Amino acid sequence: MKILKFGGTSVGSVESIRTLAGIVRSTLQEGQRVAVVTSAMGGITNCLLEMAAQAEAGSDFHVLLQKMEQRHLEVIKALIAVKRQNPVIMQLKIFMNELEDLLQGVKAVGELSARTQDSIVGYGELCSTFIVAQLLQQDHPDARFADARLWIKTDSAYGHARVNQELTDQLIRDAFRDNPAAVFCITGFVASNEKGQTTTLGRGGSDYTAALVGAAIEAEEIQIWTDVDGFMTADPRMVSKAFTLPEISYTEAMELTYFGAKVIYPPTMIPAFEKRIPIVIRNTFNPSFTGTVIREHAHRNGHLIRGISSISDVSLINLQGSGMVGRTGFSGRLFSLLAREGINIILITQASSEHSITLAVSPKDAANARRLIAAEFELELQTGKLEIPRVEDELSVLAVVGENMKHTSGVSGKLFNALGRNGVNVTAIAQGSSEYNISVVIRKNDLAKALNLVHEAFFLSRIKTLNVFYLGVGNIGKTLLRQVKDHEAYLLEHNALRINMVAITNTRQMLFREAGIPLQQWERLMQEGGEPADLEQFISRMKAMNLPNSVFIDNSASADVVNHYASLFAASISVVTCNKIGNSGSYEQYKAFKAAVKKHGVNFLYETNVGAGLPIIKTLQDLLVSGDKIMRIEAILSGTISFIFNEFKGDRRFYDVVKEARAKGYTEPDPRDDLSGLDFMRKMLILARDSGYGVEMEDVEIEPILPESCMQATSVDAFFETLLQEDAYFEELKQRAEREGKVLRYIGVLEDGKVSIRLQAIDDRHPFYALSGSDNIIAFTTNRYTACPLVVKGPGAGAEVTAAGVFADLVKCAN
Ligand code: ADP
Ligand code: ASP
Ligand code: MG
Repeated sequence: MKILKFGGTSVGSVESIRTLAGIVRSTLQEGQRVAVVTSAMGGITNCLLEMAAQAEAGSDFHVLLQKMEQRHLEVIKALIAVKRQNPVIMQLKIFMNELEDLLQGVKAVGELSARTQDSIVGYGELCSTFIVAQLLQQDHPDARFADARLWIKTDSAYGHARVNQELTDQLIRDAFRDNPAAVFCITGFVASNEKGQTTTLGRGGSDYTAALVGAAIEAEEIQIWTDVDGFMTADPRMVSKAFTLPEISYTEAMELTYFGAKVIYPPTMIPAFEKRIPIVIRNTFNPSFTGTVIREHAHRNGHLIRGISSISDVSLINLQGSGMVGRTGFSGRLFSLLAREGINIILITQASSEHSITLAVSPKDAANARRLIAAEFELELQTGKLEIPRVEDELSVLAVVGENMKHTSGVSGKLFNALGRNGVNVTAIAQGSSEYNISVVIRKNDLAKALNLVHEAFFLSRIKTLNVFYLGVGNIGKTLLRQVKDHEAYLLEHNALRINMVAITNTRQMLFREAGIPLQQWERLMQEGGEPADLEQFISRMKAMNLPNSVFIDNSASADVVNHYASLFAASISVVTCNKIGNSGSYEQYKAFKAAVKKHGVNFLYETNVGAGLPIIKTLQDLLVSGDKIMRIEAILSGTISFIFNEFKGDRRFYDVVKEARAKGYTEPDPRDDLSGLDFMRKMLILARDSGYGVEMEDVEIEPILPESCMQATSVDAFFETLLQEDAYFEELKQRAEREGKVLRYIGVLEDGKVSIRLQAIDDRHPFYALSGSDNIIAFTTNRYTACPLVVKGPGAGAEVTAAGVFADLVKCAN
């Protein structure tokens, strides 16, 4: 004997009911005895509740009533043979008339009792099941409509009635015994009390009906046919990477469904568990898939937990005060009060000091619960033994569940680590004494992010996704996008890293795609689907999306962008940048960045601020963390200046060398922008700060390369004129150096916390003597590298190497 239960979507349309009939047929062909349980057509229960509310409010409900009738008629006309349609349509009309009478009654008195509401909502299952029974009868004459109100007996708690198990079992058994051949088509959800009045088993209760029937007749299997492939690791609507679990235990299913996994109604597990009947969740829309088996013992599957679920709306009630310490009676009074008033407590935590108790309840109960508590403990409140209960709203509960968790350490560590790293604040924690469940209360607007993070941490730790927000698609920005595109597959395979480009902006346009912008097409998509760029909006949308592992890449040189860094850190967003304006601004700002980064546990990576892709910042940081002490840093950190002095030798004129540098595109359009040393100074400042010195721009001693007259020239041409006029000055510098066997180098030095940049003549014992081309070079003299400094040398500019440096920093954010 198998029980086949079909949910709302499975009876929701002509097509799905046709599939349903096929599933029943194949099961019967296996030679199985079958009973079918059906829900109302998808959306009809809500529609009935809405009509009831309309009637109560004195409004007209006929539009909806018409719609409901129409949906059922459509199914009858499409699926029932024409010659059999009449009696079916007749019965539908009878149901609709009864329903209309009930609604009219509600409208007339302007009052909707819980009892009447149950009678009204029950019509959804009556109509759908009747039609399914008639349809099945066409092929199987033994198919028979069964009104579960005659079998399932409950108390009168309308809306969520409790079942009289013994009586129900008996009635079901009798019916099956008396009709041994019948293929019963049973209405889900509805039941009746001892007076025969309609009651309902709670929203989603058709699953429970199936389990009650299955348990009474000791069926071999209870199949729950729905619209997903089975019980999944998380709600697939919230976590796109959730996957189907082949097996799960009754206990795990109970815990997960109690904490919001709506795939099956929690009480369903109880009758099935008592008789050890497996529940199998199957997909009506993918019937060949095996689905999930819920049974007593589910195999371990290599994951620390079985699944994650959540309740999106809860309120917390906090009780605090000395009145609770050591008083066993206190919690007893509190809980029996709330139970008496029918307020469901979703979760409880109590500090071990017993000084406070926190309860999570549904928001609709919060105000009432607070009032009741205040009334019950009036005396304690007056005498100051208890503080006025506080209610916190806009919260959610996230629960991780698994029998494996018992006696396994590291589960909470992993959970809190995943949440903490992404700035999800945990308001309360509860662990069931069963140790099958750890639940945390978090802010509601963190829920989607938290579910995905936690899912990633427990189930997909192999693959990590970085959600990237990208600003600046100039030379470097474009190059980096190309590099990422070319390297995507490699990163996925070798680093288990997926880069999800969520948004790209330049100064004109911006483009957002939460699922990721395909990098082959970003330019076209931006042209076709881009919106006008707006920095403020870009930043605020990035924060509002609240995605896990968010990284902002700043490829600009703009101070406006830097102004947003602090707020991004506070929103748990990491920043990777080649923009050095941030770190070389005021020291106060630099310190604020560092503090925020530490506080929020995010990454702030800026290797390319100094020497493009060369490992300079990294080397410095590695020296410092390994306990070395920096004694002296010497550096040439401007490719342009490097080139100019490397070439300024023999019989070459300074003028000619600068001309050549400009022609080669090494200099800014006005070479003085490089020769002023400002950019070099910024880099030295960053090195000094990263070495631990609170240096400001004004503290840097800089010796100008150019005589005053060159700086005064009003145009680039005029500037080159002055270079010719000052030729003797440059010749003298060069010749004096050459006479001593030396070369000229413009060198930045950090020593004793002081930064200077000077033109120096150095001999061949100096590591910078043999420098050539436009290379950058840096020499660290430290406690460990004393006699011979640690030297890093190589190209310190260019889109390709700079982009690569930013790229490497981005990948580091994944660790
Ligand atoms: P039915 O109408 O068939 O009873 P429900 O809507 O009650 O179906 O339950 C199925 C839905 O449960 C799925 O469509 C899915 O969105 C949701 N759901 C929530 N959590 C889970 C989970 N962990 N696994 C599978 N589905 C889930
Ligand atoms: N039709 C009812 C509901 O929507 C029962 C069910 O679908 O299980 O809640
Ligand atoms: Mg359901």
